[in-house]
Amino acid sequence: MTALSDPIRYLEGVGPEMARRLARLEIRTVRDLLFHIPVGYRDRREVTPIAKLVPGVEASIEASVASVRPLRRARGRRDLEATLRDSTGIMRAVWFHQPYLASTLKAGERYVFSGIVHAFRGPELHNPEFEPVAEGEGNHLHVRRIAPRYALTEGITERWLRARVRAALDKFEPPPEVLSGEWRTRLELPPLPIAFERIHFPEDVAQKEPARKRLALEEILALQVALQLARRRHRKAHKASSLTTGDPAMRRYLEALPFPLTSAQERSLGAMAEDLDGEVPMRRLLLGDVGSGKTVLALAGAVRAAGAGHQAALLAPTMLLAEQHAATAAKQLEAAGVTWGLLTAATPERDRKLLLEGFASGEISIAIGTHALLEPKVAFRSLAFVAVDEQHRFGVRQRISLARGADPGRSAHLLVLTATPIPRSYAMTLYGDLDLSILDEKPPGRLPVETTSIDGTRREALLDLLHGEMERGGSAFVVYPIVEESEKVDLEDATSTAAALREEPALAEAGVELVHGRLPAEDRRRALERFRNGEARILVTTTVVEVGLDIPDATLVAIEHPDRFGLAQLHQLRGRVGRAGRAGRCVLVTRGGLGEAARRRLHVFQTVSDGFRLAEEDLKQRGPGEFLGTSQHGFPTFRAADPMQDQELIEAASTLSRELLDRAESETSGGRVEAWIETHVPGAERYLGSG
Ligand code: ADP
Ligand code: MG
Repeated sequence: MTALSDPIRYLEGVGPEMARRLARLEIRTVRDLLFHIPVGYRDRREVTPIAKLVPGVEASIEASVASVRPLRRARGRRDLEATLRDSTGIMRAVWFHQPYLASTLKAGERYVFSGIVHAFRGPELHNPEFEPVAEGEGNHLHVRRIAPRYALTEGITERWLRARVRAALDKFEPPPEVLSGEWRTRLELPPLPIAFERIHFPEDVAQKEPARKRLALEEILALQVALQLARRRHRKAHKASSLTTGDPAMRRYLEALPFPLTSAQERSLGAMAEDLDGEVPMRRLLLGDVGSGKTVLALAGAVRAAGAGHQAALLAPTMLLAEQHAATAAKQLEAAGVTWGLLTAATPERDRKLLLEGFASGEISIAIGTHALLEPKVAFRSLAFVAVDEQHRFGVRQRISLARGADPGRSAHLLVLTATPIPRSYAMTLYGDLDLSILDEKPPGRLPVETTSIDGTRREALLDLLHGEMERGGSAFVVYPIVEESEKVDLEDATSTAAALREEPALAEAGVELVHGRLPAEDRRRALERFRNGEARILVTTTVVEVGLDIPDATLVAIEHPDRFGLAQLHQLRGRVGRAGRAGRCVLVTRGGLGEAARRRLHVFQTVSDGFRLAEEDLKQRGPGEFLGTSQHGFPTFRAADPMQDQELIEAASTLSRELLDRAESETSGGRVEAWIETHVPGAERYLGSG
């Protein structure tokens, strides 16, 4: 017997050299091999009499070998030829470049042959696969059955791989069944060993999907169990401060807002406040579309901490955003009587010193800044609440190790804000260690952004657009994507466009600013300030505006090269206009020569206005790697699972993994939980491992 976690090199017939080749397919353990899901199948169940063979299709015949002859061809090529016979006829089979097959093919013996039928002077089979009939009904691996097709690599043939999978299936030791009968019935899933058997060697195509789902559940479960175990450890090892006494301050803050909360905001606030009043550190994810009002909730939590005599930190992904949060804070925090300070890379040294002192003494209650706030030299008297605009910076593994490596003792309550709305199933997969709050409603009075496109081949098209918008008294962004391959050209484009706009008297009158990443911070801030206060009504910019800059007065965003953005990014950009009760417009400036996929994507963007639905579309079209940037994101690579398709399984796995961890804790005393997990949920160690 062999364990699923055993290295593949010890499997019968593999060895070190083949193990190296298998590694190219990401197959390193027996488990990996069994999770090497077939890319398709060859249905070879039916046997056709030789007389009934049709050229051009794959067929199987059962025939005896009348004779076998090696063929010597030009340039040393050696082929093999055989004459095959059944009760209906006689035919030829040829194997090119495989003279060694002569030893396995014996005249007078009966075999089943499968291959594509060719026609010359009669039907012929080229390079057919074969197995002796004597193997017996049901024992064939390659023929007379539905045979799996696999993704391959150099030096690994389908036939060889099939035989190794067979060996693994026969030898692996099944882990204890983690699905109770009740769960199996509810999800209609077969036990794991049967699922492995059926995904590789189904007796019927209908068996495949339930088998895939069972394997998908294994994968999702392994990740969920790992995330939730990390979460439990964290909750055990750390205590947070209860913020109950901060409630009056938080209420004052909310009442002073110029708007009532949406019911989605109320709901999330309720869940958050309940967490904050306990001593178990909150770990909550706030998922919401652009403009759904996440910042208000982050500030509410911060004020609750301040009101309870503690401190809070708001971490923004960029300096610009931190500044924007500070501007919001300046307006909204006054009523609550809460002190705050902004610390970024641009903070002058003298102010920095004062801020650090204020944080350390507790005189400043709320610290706003970038991730730099978390550096060791920044000390707080009593940090009790942290809100992070995550921007998908942390991967699953990193978050787990973050939770592990945190200081012993008191821990801050954590609120993670997503910048991109991701479908709930993805959120549950990625953030299984966080509680989830969803803002699925926008503040009232927000008009949907009308999205159209223009042909930007001639610059006049853009000029006309801007003239119109300025006459109406609006303000506009013109956005250029900066992608590495074309950085220089795009920067030149942005610069020359800004220059061209300034040559138009009416536009120059409205004020044109140019902002890009190479601009010194001070100039950038000044330009944005002029745009914000209306001195300039046109802002030509690279993607700096993408990261959530809240400029209420923009009424138009024109996006150059929209095909270079993903849907989620485009949606972020679109979210920058049409706030403050004025209708907004988004215009895609396209040029000829768009590919089919890009055209389809832009069409979807123009017709769908809901961020969650767009994210779903983007995931479907580009896959999680492209969408989330797998490498930096650490999105787990699944072989059987598809978070888009397996939402029901993900929900189930979330409950199930909690049940399993409860069982692990009750069946083991104390420190044996990990061993239990390793036995029952092999695969979880992948995430828990050294990381
Ligand atoms: P995001 O979720 O994109 O971070 P913000 O928190 O930046 O959204 O909010 C977008 C805008 O909507 C801000 O100007 C904010 O003041 C405003 N806003 C937030 N909540 C409400 C509400 N309940 N009613 C009206 N406006 C709101
Ligand atoms: Mg925001």
